[in-house]
Amino acid sequence: AENKNQNFIEEIIAKDLEEGKIKEITTRFPPEPNGYLHIGHAKSICLNFGMAEQFGGRCNLRFDDTNPTKEETEYVEAIEEDVRWLGFEWAKLCYASDYFDQFHEWAVDLIKGGKAYVDDQNAEEIRVSRGTLTKPGVDSPYRDRSVEENLDLFARMTAGEFEEGSRVLRAKIDMASSNLNMRDPVIYRILKRAHHRTGDKWCVYPMYDFAHGFEDAIEGVTHSICTLEFQDHRPLYDWFIENVDVPQVPHQYEFARLNLTYTVMSKRRLHELVTLGVVDGWDDPRMPTICGFRRRGYTASAIRRFCREIGVAKADSMVEVELLQYCLREELNKSARRAMAVLRPLKVVITNWPENFVDELPAENNPENEGAGSRTLKIGREIYIERDDFMEEPVKGFFRMSPGKEVRLKHAYIIKCDEVVKDADGNVAEIRCTADMKSRGGDAPDGRKIKGTLHWVWSGDAVKSRVNLYGHLFTLRNMNDMEEDKDYKDYLDPKSLVVVEGALVEPSAAAAAPLDKFQFLRHGYFCADKYTTPEKPVFNLTVSLKDSWGK
Ligand code: ATP
Ligand code: MG
Ligand code: MG
Repeated sequence: AENKNQNFIEEIIAKDLEEGKIKEITTRFPPEPNGYLHIGHAKSICLNFGMAEQFGGRCNLRFDDTNPTKEETEYVEAIEEDVRWLGFEWAKLCYASDYFDQFHEWAVDLIKGGKAYVDDQNAEEIRVSRGTLTKPGVDSPYRDRSVEENLDLFARMTAGEFEEGSRVLRAKIDMASSNLNMRDPVIYRILKRAHHRTGDKWCVYPMYDFAHGFEDAIEGVTHSICTLEFQDHRPLYDWFIENVDVPQVPHQYEFARLNLTYTVMSKRRLHELVTLGVVDGWDDPRMPTICGFRRRGYTASAIRRFCREIGVAKADSMVEVELLQYCLREELNKSARRAMAVLRPLKVVITNWPENFVDELPAENNPENEGAGSRTLKIGREIYIERDDFMEEPVKGFFRMSPGKEVRLKHAYIIKCDEVVKDADGNVAEIRCTADMKSRGGDAPDGRKIKGTLHWVWSGDAVKSRVNLYGHLFTLRNMNDMEEDKDYKDYLDPKSLVVVEGALVEPSAAAAAPLDKFQFLRHGYFCADKYTTPEKPVFNLTVSLKDSWGK
């Protein structure tokens, strides 16, 4: 049964199951533990775990830890946390390094079959001899070594007799192949490094192309889904599988990687931003990492929805970050508690307010969600409003506070601006108002229309907070469009973080725990940062209120 809404991966899996090629699907998400996961990985996670879920199969989390030089346990733990946070649980936790013995045996099998040889050329000589797209490769002078000599040399490489870089093991395929990957690729190299799991056991390590298909074969992966740049590696993937006796034959399929506007996703660059201190760690709210999005206030469900919306295609594309913001905003509108926060406070004194009177007003927590309940707001004689909400000489269409005009304080009273008090420099220091004490709750008793409604906080209980206003990390929409002589760091946006130190928030928000989410009325969605405390709250701007997606 054909389903028009299926992506091409779903079609392949559905067909394989229907035709009985396989009984059950097994997929895997195979990160190299050399950095934190980013939003591009989320696409791969949603696809691999999603397919397994949808077709009643299994998905493994596999650490592709074949390169000891860049891998660390810190990354392993962070990756597990992020996959779980995204809402997925693996059938099995696997490490490529658990198969090092088996890989080595298969390498020996290839040698025995005359399909691999030890090459004494150095990396540069090998690179040059492999030729180019227009120039065939040249055979290594060591290509025709006897099986016995190869077995002996590989054993001695394995035993640590030779220096790093002095010899490699290569597959013997075709130096004239039109596919450069097939020109006798290196399959083992000498690295005298400790591995984060196998310690000093090995001083030869397998290359990715050699190991990957075998990892899939060992784990019974049926559909090995990877990104498009591996398309040209598929013949090699299949060659290795065909030339040793694997327990099961997996197949590789390629899909387009995710690119997102205003950011970069290469781990090398993300590493560098962290190392140089350009950002506050891998989880800086401006980073495209899963933990960065989490700290910024993104939810796992919004990221999963985004991954569904972008779909799975065979051509690379650039996805607008506004689509991701849209998915989040839709969700937070229903789930985030409303609160009042004044980012740049201006003092307002209500001169006719009864001495020492503190009123308690009910305020709904989320007008989009009755179940969210309500809270009590306290108000007294002295409050703060947003400095931007006052204009001494209002421009046309300005319905907020100005001399002689009335505005509504959200959930509270209608007040009228009577007087502007200035400091010695002529700056507005304080506004003096009178309240219509019969307008409690915000409606005028005579039904007169009040156009402007302002958010506010009471000086008696507002808590001084730090608010981090985040923007895009980079100024360039498509970071692939960088000018040739420029470095990606030249495009860092100096305004990607604006810190507001003296913000005042209502007590219900000040009490937030890290990751608690709010809509600060008229400002946007915010999330309590990991450094927040009830005494000194810290909030991160998650996303603005306004939707610019598709406009
Ligand atoms: P980098 O090139 O930045 O080092 P990587 O692709 O090498 O990233 P891995 O840890 O090997 O990182 O990736 C694990 C899985 O996630 C791979 O299957 C890879 O294809 C997939 N993946 C990585 N980046 C993206 C992306 N931008 N979009 C979709 N899938 C991705
Ligand atoms: Mg990589
Ligand atoms: Mg990789």
